[in-house]
Amino acid sequence: MSELFPMTERTREFDARLVAFMDAHVYPAEAEFAEWDRDPARRWTIPPLLESLKIRARAEGLWNLFLPDPVHGAGLKNLEYARLAERMGQSLIASEIFNCSAPDTGNMEVLRQFGNAEQKARWLAPLLEGTIRSAFAMTEPDVASSDATNIAFPITRDGDSYLLNGRKWWTTGAGDPRCQVLVVMGVTNPTAAPHRRQSMVLVPMATPGVRVVRPLQVFGYDDAPHGHVEMAFDSVRVPVGNLIHSEGSGFEIAQARLGPGRIHHCMRLIGLAQRALEMMIERARSRVAFGMPLGQHGMTQEAIALSRCEIEQARLLTLQAAAALDALGSKGAKDLIGMIKIVAPRMACQVLDRAMQVHGGGGLSQDHFLATAYAGARSLRLADGPDEVHIAALARSMLKG
Ligand SMILES: Cc1cc2nc3c(=O)[nH]c(=O)nc-3n(C[C@H](O)[C@H](O)[C@H](O)COP(=O)(O)OP(=O)(O)OC[C@H]3O[C@@H](n4cnc5c(N)ncnc54)[C@H](O)[C@@H]3O)c2cc1C
Repeated sequence: MSELFPMTERTREFDARLVAFMDAHVYPAEAEFAEWDRDPARRWTIPPLLESLKIRARAEGLWNLFLPDPVHGAGLKNLEYARLAERMGQSLIASEIFNCSAPDTGNMEVLRQFGNAEQKARWLAPLLEGTIRSAFAMTEPDVASSDATNIAFPITRDGDSYLLNGRKWWTTGAGDPRCQVLVVMGVTNPTAAPHRRQSMVLVPMATPGVRVVRPLQVFGYDDAPHGHVEMAFDSVRVPVGNLIHSEGSGFEIAQARLGPGRIHHCMRLIGLAQRALEMMIERARSRVAFGMPLGQHGMTQEAIALSRCEIEQARLLTLQAAAALDALGSKGAKDLIGMIKIVAPRMACQVLDRAMQVHGGGGLSQDHFLATAYAGARSLRLADGPDEVHIAALARSMLKG
């Protein structure tokens, strides 16, 4: 762990409690969750153990740690939370247990920052309690959605309602039976300036005309029971009161959502890669090939050593981006945020790939978490906006000077 950014006392204390909780309850639950998911009769349902672990985590005060607000969250700075998100990232099931998982965290931040009192009472309160889940629907099958000005999904005012018609896809979490609300981005004013055309509205999942078309798969993983789904909106009608903030502010809200919310992924990826490295070392010590442990073969040593270098580089950059976010806000920290979004998912893919290789055939199988983790890390080279968009934005900012 880097000591250039030493942990504060309260982070150290939270971290120790997280470690104890994860060792006692989270890692032992991983196999049961995977088993649950493999059973065709129970797919797309929630293992009761998940809800009971949430209750326990909440009772222990390990809840909403991501929220800088001390009333509803832990009141931590980004730099402090970075350490804890890294810890949670070591298990694919941990963040949700501590009510710190995407896309709810981003949606809670949107509602907290832009929602009105009624929206907060109806949606933010149960999200903070962890009693419902939510999803964020921006990407569309028919347009290059990495460029948000391409979003074409019409949201049309009709009296006291908005009418929604069209398709969205890759809506993460909308397959979850607990998902009760969608934040949908669409076009309310097609003739406005390109960045003022879009708005966001809250759409309860139970609204007539909202339909999950199909779960999408990443390398064959559908991430049940949460899913990444294609959705149809057939003449969906919601009251105008479901508009978030104001017409034309969709782009601005989407940008705000990208700040801290999105470096959370990078923080977690450091933890994911760290766990893969630890598994790699364990395997290299115990498995013997050609007369000696794998760890005595130079190429395995290279895999281990390079992985440690790359993790530590990415960790330092993540912590620096988090420190800049605290000191300068998301505008001032934007280059560092861009840098870590470019670096962290690539680093995690590289380390996970090496770990799978060192594990041999088993590394690609369901017997280890590596293949699932790789699918998740690889997704983040797109889900957080494609690498190329971050690279282009960073270069433009540097060329501007
Ligand atoms: C697992 C997963 C979960 C997701 N979850 C969500 C979610 O919850 N909600 C949601 O709304 N979306 C979600 N997405 C969608 C994701 O945000 C989009 O896939 C992403 O923004 C890219 O949009 P697109 O797929 O339309 O690709 P396109 O916009 O068609 O881009 C295709 C490719 O074009 C290239 N490209 C684009 N811009 C540039 C550029 N400036 N310079 C050079 N090359 C460029 C890149 O290689 C890019 O990958 C998720 C995606 C995945 C895979």
